[in-house]
Amino acid sequence: MRTKLVVGNWKMHKTLAEAVATVEASLRWVDARRDVDVAICPPFTALSKVRELLRHTHIQVGAQDVFWKDSGAFTGQVSPAMLSDIGCAYCIVGHSETRGRFGKLEVAESSLGYFAESDHTINLKIRALLFQSINPILCVGETEAERQAGQTEAVIRNQLASALEGIDPSEMYFFAVAYEPVWAIGTGNTCDAAEANRVCGFIRQVISDLTDADVAQNIRILYGGSVKPDNADELFRQPEIDGGLVGGASLDPHSFSRIVMAAGSNA
Ligand code: PEP
Repeated sequence: MRTKLVVGNWKMHKTLAEAVATVEASLRWVDARRDVDVAICPPFTALSKVRELLRHTHIQVGAQDVFWKDSGAFTGQVSPAMLSDIGCAYCIVGHSETRGRFGKLEVAESSLGYFAESDHTINLKIRALLFQSINPILCVGETEAERQAGQTEAVIRNQLASALEGIDPSEMYFFAVAYEPVWAIGTGNTCDAAEANRVCGFIRQVISDLTDADVAQNIRILYGGSVKPDNADELFRQPEIDGGLVGGASLDPHSFSRIVMAAGSNA
């Protein structure tokens, strides 16, 4: 039996004061739902403060990205050791907004890559996080064009195979994988629940092939892509979906609380 996990990804939103207000507004409802694991991933600037506010609750904090070295001359980067030091339990890796192929400034004339995360650096980040006992939340998913071309399964299989290369299966019990179809992120265009369930089942099968059946049965596979209070219940009722990675709707305390409640009623 896998405990549902709901993760709020705030992306580049909220000042410190806004972060505090959001956590305080949702705390009572979210913390009451002890049968659901919950994590909030604020921007780096609010991580410490949010962690402090949540210290006596079951809600954990996560980072949105990480660099793979412990320390050194890497201007602008944050290491797994630093995340561990402030009590981070999770870290998102391989989000479609940080993978290199999408990391372009959104102006027609620009080809400036701004994050350029590759399959190889995703693997390095996962290894470094595991070394610090931080749970990676690995995002995988296809673009609209890849789906249209019938490549969904091949894309996801390749993303999983490179991300997990050389990782000991025993360390994967602490993983979560998020199926995030790129065309569903921030678009309001949620993947049909039955189709999301099918792809999450496919991900579990690939993980079983790459590691072992026991790991695959225990690992949590989340769905992410326009999860809202109105569709959360149907998504979380699917047997292969073990929770959600929630972007836009996690910014609003009321919406996020309702999504956590939906996970609880399907726990
Ligand atoms: C995300 O950023 O991971 C995400 C799923 O965003 P949204 O819920 O806004 O689609």
